[in-house]
Amino acid sequence: MKKVLPWVFVAAVIVLIADFGIMGLKIMDGDYDIEVLAYVALVGTWVVGGCAVYRAFVRRCPCCGKRRTTNGDYCPYCGEKISEE
Ligand SMILES: [Zn+2]
Repeated sequence: MKKVLPWVFVAAVIVLIADFGIMGLKIMDGDYDIEVLAYVALVGTWVVGGCAVYRAFVRRCPCCGKRRTTNGDYCPYCGEKISEE
């Protein structure tokens, strides 16, 4: 899971940029049939936003980088003391 999330995030950003690019080209071309692209943009925005929120809220050990599953002061993986920000 630790290695998957950044790739999901990067893929979603790329899809989002490509999607907005195609949407922009279509609108400039006078083609307003962008319903599918709009849905893709909506989903992409949610994925990117969700990843950003997840990364902001899930606290990781500064020593080993593992996700903290407990609220203790010490990392359950490497035993390092985790100081609150
Ligand atoms: Zn640790």
